[in-house]
Amino acid sequence: MPFFDLSGKTAVVTGVSGGLGRGIAVGLAEAGADLVCISQSEGGNATARTIEEIGRRAVFIQADLSVETALPDIAGRAIEVFGRVDILVNNAGIIRRRPAADHAAEDWHDVIALNMNSVFFLSQLIGRHMLQRGSGKIINIASMLSFQGGINVPGYTASKHAVAGITKALANEWAGRGVQVNAIAPGYMATDNTAALRADEARSRSIVERIPAGRWGTPEDLKGPAIFLASSASDYISGHVLCVDGGWMTR
Ligand code: NAD
Repeated sequence: MPFFDLSGKTAVVTGVSGGLGRGIAVGLAEAGADLVCISQSEGGNATARTIEEIGRRAVFIQADLSVETALPDIAGRAIEVFGRVDILVNNAGIIRRRPAADHAAEDWHDVIALNMNSVFFLSQLIGRHMLQRGSGKIINIASMLSFQGGINVPGYTASKHAVAGITKALANEWAGRGVQVNAIAPGYMATDNTAALRADEARSRSIVERIPAGRWGTPEDLKGPAIFLASSASDYISGHVLCVDGGWMTR
């Protein structure tokens, strides 16, 4: 299916040291893309090596994306690696769990800096490069909490509502200039991000009972949707937030 073929494309994926980002990066590589992998922790290097084993080119950049002033340099380095970026996946994200009444300002600001600010500024920096070339795909990783309020995670909820808003705002400005901006909203996925939820047996059971698919999602579940939104198969899709949630939102 040439529609889904990413051969010759270069992709930047953030937060690839494990979890969903690693799954997405490996999926894009399996579809043919070369990868620039960005992560704060060294685990991103292992993901880059896995991608090389698949037969694609991969470079790891270790960086803290929550430092706003560092983003122009990081974006510049990411573009320089292969000379161009066709696909950007803003996946890196953190969560801090504490009730709203006790939520620390530091937790709020840390979450907003990475989950919201880095998504906008990286999209802006790499988006400018895409606009100059007249083509590109940006995929932001949203959440069920782009639609719902959640419990004990007010900063995270605010940041993920913002991710949906940024996706739509950029999509409106850039769709006519060859750059499609969309988002994937994963449901409840088994990664470090949800380790605390899964460790709580009662909470974990009540979550699974509400998921029509009857199971937690996995990084593998995001491969197909990411390839779709990164490929020419989705050229007329703009500003969409695609739920990949085993049916959670429809229940
Ligand atoms: P994870 O904790 O397994 O991975 C997070 C990744 O982000 C890691 O690679 C980590 O190194 C990187 N990272 C963290 N802080 C960083 C920083 N300051 N700079 C650069 N990289 C940094 O989490 P995950 O579950 O794979 O989450 C990935 C994305 O998916 C996040 O945006 C998260 O909010 C979102 N998400 C997850 C779920 C879920 O159920 N797991 C559901 C909805 C959305």
